[in-house]
Amino acid sequence: MNLRSPVLVDLSVPLSAGASEVVPVVIEALSHEAGGRHLAELAGVDQKSLPEGLGWASERVTALTHAGTHVDAPYHYAPQCAGQPSRTIDELPVEWFWAPGVCVPVPGDSAASVGLDDLAAFEAASGHRIQAGEIVLFRTGAEDWHGSESYIEKGRALTPELVRSLVGRGVRVLGTDAWSIDPGFRVMRDDLARHGPGAVWAAHYVGRDLEFCIIERLCNLARLPAAGFWLACFPIRVLRGSAGWARAVAFLPRETAAGEEEP
Ligand SMILES: [Zn+2]
Repeated sequence: MNLRSPVLVDLSVPLSAGASEVVPVVIEALSHEAGGRHLAELAGVDQKSLPEGLGWASERVTALTHAGTHVDAPYHYAPQCAGQPSRTIDELPVEWFWAPGVCVPVPGDSAASVGLDDLAAFEAASGHRIQAGEIVLFRTGAEDWHGSESYIEKGRALTPELVRSLVGRGVRVLGTDAWSIDPGFRVMRDDLARHGPGAVWAAHYVGRDLEFCIIERLCNLARLPAAGFWLACFPIRVLRGSAGWARAVAFLPRETAAGEEEP
């Protein structure tokens, strides 16, 4: 694909203290005035010697690495993967996070997980067969609820069979616009009552045997074609981290981006 002058599509939600975050996010803004005091103190100068007494603005963030758009590492799912210590986010090769992307539209009922049939239907309809190393995104429609409390119950989960199949085919990174690749808590409780403990968090638990990452809480997936674009989703390299915040960006060849003109 010609990546000269591509159209960039931002697939990340802002990291913010919103109703969609189950574990609260706190962003404490430190003003230019506070920064001036800090700078003066560190530099050992009088704050009055700074222009208007102002220094740097900054923020102190208290949030899980799983807040906002982020990439889960294998370590998130279990301490071991296939009998070996699970890799943490800082240990994964950056090549995993810059790859051709595929976007699979799977709108529908949140109680119905996306399975192998849905993938086969996508491949038949789009004419694109998923290749090893591609990053496969699922557009469930959940992103329309991002920012509201109901977000965590929206979107379709992936079946463990589908995750197994994709990872078996060489896919290392999966993505979703939903809160998780497993069902929301309400569906999870129903599944637990109906099928027993094995039904809970089943897609994530595939990571006990197979190594893969998940990008959660993507947005703007409706702007992506089925295939033929590249994706960057580099996670922040948190030492021994189970995840890292990510700025996920799609790179589309200019001719396929709707409404975009060559500059
Ligand atoms: Zn996560």
